[in-house]
Amino acid sequence: LWDAQGRPYRMAGSVIEVTERKQAEHELQESSRAKDEFIATLAHELRNPLAPIRTGLDILKRDTGNGPVSQRARATMERQLQHMIRLVDDLLDISRISSGKIRLDVSRIHLRSVVDSALEISRPALSAAGHAFEADLPDDDIELMGDPTRLSQALGNLLNNAAKYTPPGGRVALRVRREGDQAVLRVEDNGEGIPPGMLDRVFSLFAQVRSTLDRAQGGLGIGLYLVRSLVTMHGGSVVAESAGPGQGSAFTVRLPCLPAQPAAPKHDAPAK
Ligand code: ADP
Repeated sequence: LWDAQGRPYRMAGSVIEVTERKQAEHELQESSRAKDEFIATLAHELRNPLAPIRTGLDILKRDTGNGPVSQRARATMERQLQHMIRLVDDLLDISRISSGKIRLDVSRIHLRSVVDSALEISRPALSAAGHAFEADLPDDDIELMGDPTRLSQALGNLLNNAAKYTPPGGRVALRVRREGDQAVLRVEDNGEGIPPGMLDRVFSLFAQVRSTLDRAQGGLGIGLYLVRSLVTMHGGSVVAESAGPGQGSAFTVRLPCLPAQPAAPKHDAPAK
């Protein structure tokens, strides 16, 4: 079939159809590859803590006392179990987010308490890696409307990542400041860095610069997706910056906050 200009339009149509079909096939293959890789990563991440837990149990079977060996075994088992619980909780959060069932328990909160609990979450990872940690917090605390548990979880994830993706003995900093009606939280490290093409992609579900299967440190690629989802639910935003691989990274969270309280008048101020 030819069009008015004598061009074979049917053929052009078929070529487009073939290209579209190829594209659809390619996307299907890609998503099935991503699914296979996710299942392999998940199996790996769930399997990993089981070996030390089994070893710990064997030790406790033989050594029923409370000596240093069984104490160490108990501590290891507890740490590994905690790791598995966090993994499964993260997965449950993902499914709550995608089904729209996640709820924020919002109240008027102080940012300082969010920072304190995030530091409690990430302190073990920061000190295990021997990083120097600096917290730069404003003198006047910032108040905001938010869910303190969810905000600490988001900030804790960023600090844990900074610890995890920085070679031992690195530097990690948390800087908090007010910018008008926004609280700005910045987590900086001098670690692995992120290639420019990945700066926004790292927030996608299951996105990793290097697969968990190719590196010593674990992870499912869901931490930053959770961070962005939780921050967005609070009306905020989060972006990543890095000068590139090996150049460190910085993550900046912006959250709407309440107006600063005017300084209380001094008692000895002269009455007007
Ligand atoms: P996970 O750490 O489980 O892989 P995340 O969603 O927390 O998943 O992070 C996604 C990816 O972003 C990581 O795999 C890592 O490649 C990269 N990333 C996150 N934080 C940092 C950081 N502070 N420095 C360098 N890379 C990072």
